Amino acid sequence: MDRALIINLAYILAAFFFVNGLKKLGHPSTARKGNMHSSLGMLIAILASLVSKEILSYQMILIGMVVGSIVGVLAAKLIKMTAMPEMVALLNGFGGISSLLVGWGAYASNPSLTTFTAATVALSVIIGGITLTGSLIAWGKLSETLSGKPVLFVGQKLINAALLITSFCCAFAFATGPSIGEQSFFIMAGIALLLGILLVIPIGGADMPVVIALLNSYSGIAASAAGFVVNNNLLIVAGAIVGASGLILTNIMCKAMNRTLAHVLFGGMGATSTSGDSKDVKGEVKPIVPEDAALILEAAQSVSFIPGYGMAVAQAQHSVKELAELLENNGCEVKFGIHPVAGRMPGHMNVLLAEADIPYEQLFEMDAINPSMESTDVCVVIGANDVVNPDARESEGSPIYGMPIINADYAKTVIILKRSMASGFAGIANPLFLKNNARMLFGDAKSSIHSLISYFKES
Ligand code: NDP
Repeated sequence: MDRALIINLAYILAAFFFVNGLKKLGHPSTARKGNMHSSLGMLIAILASLVSKEILSYQMILIGMVVGSIVGVLAAKLIKMTAMPEMVALLNGFGGISSLLVGWGAYASNPSLTTFTAATVALSVIIGGITLTGSLIAWGKLSETLSGKPVLFVGQKLINAALLITSFCCAFAFATGPSIGEQSFFIMAGIALLLGILLVIPIGGADMPVVIALLNSYSGIAASAAGFVVNNNLLIVAGAIVGASGLILTNIMCKAMNRTLAHVLFGGMGATSTSGDSKDVKGEVKPIVPEDAALILEAAQSVSFIPGYGMAVAQAQHSVKELAELLENNGCEVKFGIHPVAGRMPGHMNVLLAEADIPYEQLFEMDAINPSMESTDVCVVIGANDVVNPDARESEGSPIYGMPIINADYAKTVIILKRSMASGFAGIANPLFLKNNARMLFGDAKSSIHSLISYFKES
């Protein structure tokens, strides 16, 4: 069998492992296996690429692998679990810059490209550039290096549209007119980098999940275009898989937030509005001490835990499991309600609860838990804020109006575990904390749950 055929067969096998891995990642019980399959696919893909005839320099590849591995190992060791979402945003950006560099490299090494290759170079540069700077802004917003508030200015949409059209005109000129190729290439790349910034700055607060999913998809589409540039079937397939799965995730996130994609991208969503601001809400904060909270929990027949980003910060998932077991042993029915955008990345809460080995039967998606909320004795909100904010349901002027929430406020009693009255990622007040049936258990979520466990065991 000739070498090209073996390489293509290896690529098909790698693609099979990618698709199978992705399928298995769809459920917590098979997710680990899915990760292994995807890694195996990547190993096969790398080995097959390394025996390809087109490899120009094994030394350069080796240097790249060593440097990349050192950075990767350090990042994996040093970056905290809570910083994972920012890390994911950066990784999307790395995908973008790789595609941009592949396109640039192809053009630099052979300026007289065919129209088709030049068109794919243009696509990988435009999409890669937008992905790179867009991801850097997303990283800044998620890490709170930049303000999460939307940046809006007059004529923003017109400017963005004009830039997008100009970049495609440059792409057309680059692909069809070799005489102005160089100028077109650099103008196109510059505009793409600028567009990435301009497209993400107007998106604020609660809408970031959609942006992260979309940037993930862009990084895949850019990689697929780069695959055409270097004529590598596996890169085309793998990029297309990432692009398509990113689009599916974007759609899921849009549904979870009850937004259309156009609304998120062009609507200046998350812009802080004054009308309907919950600062107008009357009520008082009613703090509770762990001892009293433990007594309420002891008397409860049904308890629903609603985890949010604060549970990830406190790393309270193992303690929550211990408390849940104590409650169950006390004859109480225990459920966990998971909002699709709780935390800072899709599936964040599922990962944490799976890490603590909380049985899957106790995990309920938002739509599944909401109907039982009114008959729930106690709802324990652990470091969640935006995803239980009743303004999303009731206050038309609120930036999160229309986003489905977990109706924690419908439970007979709500105990909210957080450190202060500070707002969540969307930067808005939460009237739930002032409702008559709400009690604030202030403190780090893990310490508060430890205290609850101690009092519960004593009583
Ligand atoms: P929020 O960001 O709304 O609120 C988290 C709360 O946790 C804060 O109010 C904070 O209050 C509290 N907290 C922080 N640390 C601790 C701690 N150690 N112990 C106890 N509490 C703590 O989180 P939600 O999960 O409710 O909502 C997620 C938000 O993030 C949504 O707006 C969503 O759109 C957005 N987002 C989601 C992404 C995703 O893919 N899931 C991606 C990007 C953004 P305090 O400081 O007072 O303790």
